[in-house]
Amino acid sequence: MAVTKSRMEENLARISGSIAAACELRGRRRGDVTIVAVTKAVGTDTIENLLDMGLTDLGENRVQQLIGRADEISGAGAATPRWHMIGHLQRNKVNAVVEVAQMIHSVDSLRLAEEINVRAEGQGKVCDVLLQVNCSRETRKHGVAVGAAMYLGELMCTMKHLRLVGLMTMAPLVDDPEAARPTFVQLRELFEEMRHEKIGGEHFRHLSMGMSQDYAVAVEEGATIVRIGTALYE
Ligand SMILES: *Cc1c(COP(=O)(O)O)cnc(C)c1O
Repeated sequence: MAVTKSRMEENLARISGSIAAACELRGRRRGDVTIVAVTKAVGTDTIENLLDMGLTDLGENRVQQLIGRADEISGAGAATPRWHMIGHLQRNKVNAVVEVAQMIHSVDSLRLAEEINVRAEGQGKVCDVLLQVNCSRETRKHGVAVGAAMYLGELMCTMKHLRLVGLMTMAPLVDDPEAARPTFVQLRELFEEMRHEKIGGEHFRHLSMGMSQDYAVAVEEGATIVRIGTALYE
Protein backbone atom coordinates (compact mmCIF):
# COMPACT_ATOMS: atom_id res chain seq x y z
CA MET A 1 0.00 0.00 0.00
CA ALA A 2 1.18 3.51 -0.76
CA VAL A 3 2.33 5.68 2.12
CA THR A 4 -0.39 7.92 3.60
CA LYS A 5 -0.26 11.67 3.36
CA SER A 6 -0.19 12.13 7.14
CA ARG A 7 2.77 9.79 7.34
CA MET A 8 4.53 11.82 4.66
CA GLU A 9 3.76 15.02 6.57
CA GLU A 10 5.40 13.54 9.67
CA ASN A 11 8.40 12.48 7.62
CA LEU A 12 8.71 15.91 6.04
CA ALA A 13 8.47 17.63 9.45
CA ARG A 14 11.28 15.42 10.74
CA ILE A 15 13.46 15.97 7.66
CA SER A 16 12.85 19.70 7.72
CA GLY A 17 13.71 19.79 11.42
CA SER A 18 17.02 18.00 10.82
CA ILE A 19 17.85 20.38 8.00
CA ALA A 20 17.02 23.37 10.21
CA ALA A 21 19.24 21.97 12.99
CA ALA A 22 22.15 21.44 10.58
CA CYS A 23 21.72 25.01 9.27
CA GLU A 24 21.63 26.39 12.80
CA LEU A 25 24.83 24.53 13.67
CA ARG A 26 26.65 26.20 10.78
CA GLY A 27 24.99 29.62 10.91
CA ARG A 28 23.18 29.00 7.64
CA ARG A 29 19.63 30.00 6.71
CA ARG A 30 17.07 27.22 6.35
CA GLY A 31 15.73 29.01 3.30
CA ASP A 32 19.01 28.40 1.49
CA VAL A 33 18.39 24.65 1.35
CA THR A 34 15.91 23.18 -1.14
CA ILE A 35 14.51 19.68 -0.87
CA VAL A 36 14.19 17.88 -4.19
CA ALA A 37 11.68 15.09 -3.57
CA VAL A 38 12.85 12.10 -5.57
CA THR A 39 9.80 10.40 -7.05
CA LYS A 40 11.34 7.47 -8.94
CA ALA A 41 9.75 4.86 -6.67
CA VAL A 42 6.30 6.33 -6.06
CA GLY A 43 3.03 6.75 -7.95
CA THR A 44 1.16 9.78 -9.20
CA ASP A 45 -1.10 10.02 -6.13
CA THR A 46 1.92 10.30 -3.89
CA ILE A 47 3.39 12.97 -6.15
CA GLU A 48 0.19 14.98 -5.86
CA ASN A 49 0.45 14.73 -2.08
CA LEU A 50 4.01 16.05 -2.23
CA LEU A 51 2.80 19.04 -4.23
CA ASP A 52 -0.02 19.63 -1.74
CA MET A 53 2.54 19.60 1.05
CA GLY A 54 4.42 22.38 -0.67
CA LEU A 55 7.24 20.31 -2.15
CA THR A 56 7.40 21.60 -5.69
CA ASP A 57 10.93 20.53 -6.63
CA LEU A 58 10.75 16.94 -7.86
CA GLY A 59 13.53 14.67 -9.12
CA GLU A 60 13.66 11.68 -11.46
CA ASN A 61 16.72 9.69 -12.47
CA ARG A 62 15.40 8.14 -15.69
CA VAL A 63 14.52 10.05 -18.81
CA GLN A 64 11.40 8.11 -19.81
CA GLN A 65 9.88 8.41 -16.38
CA LEU A 66 10.80 12.09 -16.08
CA ILE A 67 9.03 12.86 -19.34
CA GLY A 68 6.02 10.68 -18.57
CA ARG A 69 5.56 12.21 -15.17
CA ALA A 70 6.05 15.79 -16.24
CA ASP A 71 3.28 15.14 -18.72
CA GLU A 72 0.90 13.36 -16.32
CA ILE A 73 1.29 15.84 -13.51
CA SER A 74 0.88 18.96 -15.63
CA GLY A 75 -2.47 17.55 -16.72
CA ALA A 76 -3.56 16.76 -13.18
CA GLY A 77 -4.33 20.31 -12.07
CA ALA A 78 -1.96 20.28 -9.09
CA ALA A 79 0.65 23.00 -8.43
CA THR A 80 3.21 23.10 -11.23
CA PRO A 81 6.33 21.20 -10.19
CA ARG A 82 9.92 22.08 -11.06
CA TRP A 83 11.50 18.92 -12.44
CA HIS A 84 15.12 17.98 -11.79
CA MET A 85 16.94 15.40 -13.89
CA ILE A 86 19.23 13.74 -11.35
CA GLY A 87 20.34 10.54 -13.11
CA HIS A 88 22.82 9.65 -15.81
CA LEU A 89 21.87 11.20 -19.14
CA GLN A 90 22.66 9.91 -22.62
CA ARG A 91 23.18 12.40 -25.39
CA ASN A 92 20.44 11.02 -27.62
CA LYS A 93 17.86 11.81 -24.95
CA VAL A 94 18.91 15.35 -24.21
CA ASN A 95 16.31 17.17 -26.28
CA ALA A 96 13.34 15.78 -24.39
CA VAL A 97 14.99 16.44 -21.03
CA VAL A 98 15.78 20.05 -21.91
CA GLU A 99 12.10 20.49 -22.71
CA VAL A 100 10.81 19.45 -19.29
CA ALA A 101 13.62 19.78 -16.74
CA GLN A 102 14.24 22.99 -14.82
CA MET A 103 17.68 21.75 -13.84
CA ILE A 104 19.96 18.93 -14.99
CA HIS A 105 22.19 17.69 -12.15
CA SER A 106 24.16 15.10 -14.06
CA VAL A 107 26.39 16.81 -16.62
CA ASP A 108 29.64 14.87 -16.59
CA SER A 109 31.25 15.27 -19.99
CA LEU A 110 32.06 17.94 -22.53
CA ARG A 111 30.04 16.17 -25.23
CA LEU A 112 26.96 16.04 -23.03
CA ALA A 113 27.34 19.72 -22.14
CA GLU A 114 27.67 20.59 -25.83
CA GLU A 115 24.58 18.59 -26.71
CA ILE A 116 22.52 20.32 -24.01
CA ASN A 117 23.77 23.70 -25.26
CA VAL A 118 22.77 22.93 -28.86
CA ARG A 119 19.34 21.58 -27.88
CA ALA A 120 18.63 24.47 -25.53
CA GLU A 121 19.55 26.90 -28.30
CA GLY A 122 17.14 25.08 -30.61
CA GLN A 123 14.40 25.50 -28.03
CA GLY A 124 15.27 29.14 -27.47
CA LYS A 125 16.17 28.71 -23.82
CA VAL A 126 19.03 28.66 -21.36
CA CYS A 127 19.34 25.44 -19.35
CA ASP A 128 20.46 25.41 -15.69
CA VAL A 129 22.94 22.61 -15.11
CA LEU A 130 25.15 21.20 -12.40
CA LEU A 131 28.49 19.57 -13.06
CA GLN A 132 28.50 16.08 -11.53
CA VAL A 133 31.76 15.29 -9.81
CA ASN A 134 32.97 11.90 -8.68
CA CYS A 135 34.46 12.65 -5.27
CA SER A 136 34.22 9.16 -3.88
CA ARG A 137 36.51 7.50 -6.42
CA GLU A 138 34.13 4.61 -6.93
CA THR A 139 34.85 3.74 -10.53
CA ARG A 140 31.32 2.60 -11.28
CA LYS A 141 29.96 6.01 -10.40
CA HIS A 142 29.32 8.68 -12.98
CA GLY A 143 30.82 12.12 -12.67
CA VAL A 144 34.02 13.81 -13.73
CA ALA A 145 37.20 13.42 -11.71
CA VAL A 146 37.87 16.21 -9.23
CA GLY A 147 40.99 17.17 -11.18
CA ALA A 148 39.02 17.67 -14.41
CA ALA A 149 36.13 19.67 -12.97
CA MET A 150 37.72 23.12 -13.13
CA TYR A 151 38.58 22.82 -16.82
CA LEU A 152 35.22 21.36 -17.82
CA GLY A 153 33.48 24.05 -15.78
CA GLU A 154 35.42 26.72 -17.65
CA LEU A 155 34.43 25.26 -21.00
CA MET A 156 30.79 25.01 -19.96
CA CYS A 157 30.79 28.70 -19.12
CA THR A 158 31.60 29.54 -22.74
CA MET A 159 28.32 27.90 -23.85
CA LYS A 160 25.62 30.52 -24.22
CA HIS A 161 22.58 28.31 -23.72
CA LEU A 162 23.86 26.58 -20.66
CA ARG A 163 24.07 28.13 -17.21
CA LEU A 164 26.44 26.41 -14.82
CA VAL A 165 24.76 26.89 -11.45
CA GLY A 166 26.84 24.57 -9.29
CA LEU A 167 28.14 21.09 -8.56
CA MET A 168 26.56 17.74 -7.72
CA THR A 169 27.95 14.55 -6.22
CA MET A 170 26.82 11.13 -5.06
CA ALA A 171 28.37 9.85 -1.84
CA PRO A 172 29.11 6.16 -1.46
CA LEU A 173 26.10 4.26 -0.13
CA VAL A 174 26.93 3.20 3.41
CA ASP A 175 25.02 2.93 6.67
CA ASP A 176 27.01 5.51 8.56
CA PRO A 177 26.22 9.07 7.37
CA GLU A 178 29.55 10.25 8.76
CA ALA A 179 31.28 8.15 6.13
CA ALA A 180 29.88 10.53 3.51
CA ARG A 181 31.30 13.66 5.12
CA PRO A 182 34.72 13.62 3.40
CA THR A 183 32.97 13.40 0.01
CA PHE A 184 30.83 16.45 0.81
CA VAL A 185 33.79 18.40 2.17
CA GLN A 186 35.72 17.66 -0.99
CA LEU A 187 32.88 18.90 -3.21
CA ARG A 188 32.54 22.09 -1.18
CA GLU A 189 36.27 22.76 -1.37
CA LEU A 190 36.21 22.26 -5.13
CA PHE A 191 33.21 24.59 -5.33
CA GLU A 192 35.07 27.27 -3.37
CA GLU A 193 38.13 26.92 -5.60
CA MET A 194 36.00 27.29 -8.71
CA ARG A 195 34.22 30.30 -7.28
CA HIS A 196 37.56 31.82 -6.48
CA GLU A 197 38.42 31.45 -10.17
CA LYS A 198 35.10 33.18 -10.96
CA ILE A 199 33.76 30.17 -12.83
CA GLY A 200 30.04 30.55 -13.43
CA GLY A 201 29.92 34.00 -11.86
CA GLU A 202 27.01 34.91 -9.61
CA HIS A 203 24.90 31.98 -10.85
CA PHE A 204 27.40 29.46 -9.53
CA ARG A 205 25.90 28.90 -6.08
CA HIS A 206 24.51 25.38 -5.73
CA LEU A 207 25.82 22.23 -4.13
CA SER A 208 23.49 19.28 -4.80
CA MET A 209 24.54 16.65 -2.29
CA GLY A 210 22.94 14.45 0.35
CA MET A 211 20.21 11.82 0.13
CA SER A 212 17.91 10.11 2.67
CA GLN A 213 20.81 8.62 4.62
CA ASP A 214 23.11 11.58 4.87
CA TYR A 215 21.29 14.83 4.04
CA ALA A 216 21.92 16.34 7.48
CA VAL A 217 25.67 15.87 7.14
CA ALA A 218 25.48 17.29 3.61
CA VAL A 219 23.69 20.42 4.85
CA GLU A 220 26.33 20.84 7.57
CA GLU A 221 28.91 20.81 4.79
CA GLY A 222 27.12 23.33 2.61
CA ALA A 223 24.48 21.55 0.52
CA THR A 224 21.93 23.94 -1.02
CA ILE A 225 19.97 21.10 -2.64
CA VAL A 226 19.30 17.74 -0.99
CA ARG A 227 17.77 14.92 -3.05
CA ILE A 228 15.48 12.87 -0.84
CA GLY A 229 13.38 9.85 -1.71
CA THR A 230 13.10 6.99 0.78
CA ALA A 231 12.98 9.13 3.93
CA LEU A 232 9.79 10.80 2.69
CA TYR A 233 7.93 7.54 2.08
CA GLU A 234 9.02 5.20 4.87
C1 LIG B 1 17.29 7.76 -5.89
C2 LIG B 1 18.21 8.92 -5.87
C3 LIG B 1 18.25 9.80 -4.77
C4 LIG B 1 17.39 9.60 -3.52
O1 LIG B 1 17.78 8.47 -2.83
P1 LIG B 1 17.10 8.09 -1.42
O2 LIG B 1 18.13 7.27 -0.75
O3 LIG B 1 15.87 7.33 -1.75
O4 LIG B 1 16.84 9.36 -0.71
C5 LIG B 1 19.10 10.88 -4.83
N1 LIG B 1 19.89 11.11 -5.90
C6 LIG B 1 19.89 10.30 -6.97
C7 LIG B 1 20.79 10.61 -8.12
C8 LIG B 1 19.05 9.18 -7.00
O5 LIG B 1 19.06 8.36 -8.06
